[in-house]
Parts: sequence; C-alpha cells; structure tokens
Amino acid sequence: MGKTVLILGGGTGGVVAANVLRKTLGREHRVVLVDRKENHEFYSPIPFLLVNQRRPQQLTRKLSRLGRKGIDFWQAEVRSVNPARSQVETDRGTIDYDYLIISLGAEHRPENLPGFQEGAYNVYSLSGASRLSRRLQQFSGGRIVIFISSIPFVCPSAAYEIAFLLDEYLRKKGLRHRTELSLITPERSPEPLAGPLVGARLRRDLARRYIKLTTEAKVLSLENGRLKLDQGEVEGDLFIGVPPHRGPSALESSGLTGEGGWIEVDPHTLATRVENIFGVGDATAIRLPVMQTWAPKSGIFAHYQAEVAARNIALLLSGKKPHHRFTGKGL
Ligand SMILES: Cc1cc2nc3c(=O)[nH]c(=O)nc-3n(C[C@H](O)[C@H](O)[C@H](O)COP(=O)(O)OP(=O)(O)OC[C@H]3O[C@@H](n4cnc5c(N)ncnc54)[C@H](O)[C@@H]3O)c2cc1C
Repeated sequence: MGKTVLILGGGTGGVVAANVLRKTLGREHRVVLVDRKENHEFYSPIPFLLVNQRRPQQLTRKLSRLGRKGIDFWQAEVRSVNPARSQVETDRGTIDYDYLIISLGAEHRPENLPGFQEGAYNVYSLSGASRLSRRLQQFSGGRIVIFISSIPFVCPSAAYEIAFLLDEYLRKKGLRHRTELSLITPERSPEPLAGPLVGARLRRDLARRYIKLTTEAKVLSLENGRLKLDQGEVEGDLFIGVPPHRGPSALESSGLTGEGGWIEVDPHTLATRVENIFGVGDATAIRLPVMQTWAPKSGIFAHYQAEVAARNIALLLSGKKPHHRFTGKGL
C-alpha cells in the first residue's frame, strides 16, 4: 500500500528532499510538502540584492510548481508535530504521515534584541533586504554598522559578504570616503570554523578596505542610533542586523528538540530520536567533534542532509537497509 512522506518546510532542505523523493519513490507513494509561504525563497543572493545586482523576483519560485512533478504542496502554518500519532497539526487541518522530514529552518526573532525592530534593517528577510536596498539607493554617506546579534546564526559568511559588497558599491558611487563601515560580531574571529588562516585573511582584507571589525562583542540593545555592547557603544546612521535565532516554535511540544529549540539528530543519518522522523538543515543542531561547537547553518548542508534523509526513506520504503550518510559534504 502507498505511504505518505510528509516534508515540513519549502526552503532549501524541504525542496531538495521533495525532489529526491519524487524521483526515487514509486507513484503509489505520496510526497507532500507544507510551507506557510506561497513561494520558495532563496537567500544566498540577498547580499547582491542589497547592491542592486539582483531583483527580489529572481530569488523566489512558486511552490505550487512542485505539483507538476507530482509533489502535493499545502500552503499552511504548521502548529505542532505529534510523533506518537504520526500527525502534524496545521491551520488547515491535520495531516497523517508514515515518514516525516522536518526542514523548518531557523526562526528569526528580531524582537528578542531590544530596539532591533525599530532601529535596524533585518537582512535575513526578503522584505527587510528589499527595504534596505531602496534605502541604500538614497544613502549619501554616514556611519553604517553591520552587526550579528548572537550565536548561532545562519550562514557564517553573509555578514562579511555584505560588508565587502557594500564597500565596493559605495566606492563605485563615489561615497566611500564619506562612509564609515563597521562590522560587529560575537565570534572570536571571522568564520572561526574555516580555521585560523581564513580568519587572519579576512581580518587583513577587512582592514585593507577600512572596514572596522569588532569581535567577541555581546550585543545588548539598539537605542537612538547607538548599538550597546558589553564592551561599550557604537554610534551609527544605518544599522544592518542579523537577528537572534531560535529553533522552530512549532516543534516546542514535539519532544524532538533540545537546547535552543533545535532538533536533535544523528549527525550522519539525520534521524531524530523517533524512528520515522528526520530533521535536516538550519532547524537542527549538530555537535561537531572539533572545537566543542555546532555545525554551521548553511544551505549547502541543508541540501546534502536532505538528500541523505530522502534517499534513506526511499530505501526503507522498498524494504532495504538505509546506508546513505552525511559526512560534512559541502564543507
Ligand atoms: C543573507 C543570507 C545569505 C546566505 N547565503 C548562503 C550561501 O551563500 N550559501 C549557503 O550555503 N547558505 C547561505 N545561506 C543560508 C541558507 O539560506 C540556509 O542555510 C538554508 O536556507 C537552510 O535551509 P532550510 O531548508 O533548513 O531552511 P529554510 O530555507 O529557512 O526553509 C524553512 C522553510 O520553512 C518554512 N516554515 C518555517 N516555519 C513554518 C511553519 N510553522 N509552518 C509552515 N512553514 C514554516 C519557512 O517559510 C521556510 O520556507 C544564506 C542565508 C542568508 C539569510
């Protein structure tokens, strides 16, 4: 009898999982994908959107297009997951599943940093990035402060990419000499997981472009054009923020999450503590064997993790032993 594989989230991990499953499973099995949004949003080009090298409509695709491939798309808000009943509660009703892949991403909580919503542009949302892009077109010079609110955060390189692209953009507009650029991060060093050589190189390149870097900074609040840190204050005219993150709130009562609300998974199989449920992408917390830290949250990992989970489910459904493993591909 046909089974239902349900995928929560139509971002990078969810769409990859759905495509792989549809290609590998027989048509007797259903593949259903749920997302609250009408569109898949692709975040990697956001830094280019800011400097007018991309348009917002180039970053989205209608999720209903998955229907053409035989993937059912439900636009609905996921409210909770009930592993004991193999059911997901949404604002459009209950969905039963045989296998579940959760790829709900990281939840952005600008409201958790006092003053963020009133005083900063949230570059981790398409609407915030589009607003900032329009603001930058009117910008005539001043102090731009890019800050990372807290750890963990999605995409370790995005803030640095934004800083370098802004430097180039302002030079081309003849405004760089009238602009101070600074970047504030709670990290010990830029991109710590890429190793000390990359960190040193980034520091050098930032300094060469007169981008002031402050590391190991705890951001406390943003008030009246002042970013308050545990190590003093930074004044600015335009604040660009990476908001605080948390695991998806829809999973709070699921029993699948640990510290910070992130899904606990086996780092190689992406299996959760419940047999028929897998977690992939930004919503998971994967402890690395090195540096006592967590694996970075990146689209490239979400992609390969989704492939592993989807391929193993396809094997299970055909009565075979799952053997695919995530080994850090993409790093
Ligand atoms: C500015 C920026 C630049 C980046 N650049 C890169 C890069 O160059 N390279 C790279 O590898 N990665 C990059 N990333 C990171 C990458 O975008 C993420 O790691 C990736 O999107 C994670 O995929 P995911 O499927 O885990 O989550 P997401 O892509 O965030 O998808 C989660 C989906 O779940 C949906 N959802 C959440 N909660 C609910 C709910 N309750 N009900 C219904 N739907 C829900 C959301 O609407 C969303 O569509 C960047 C990120 C940003 C913000």
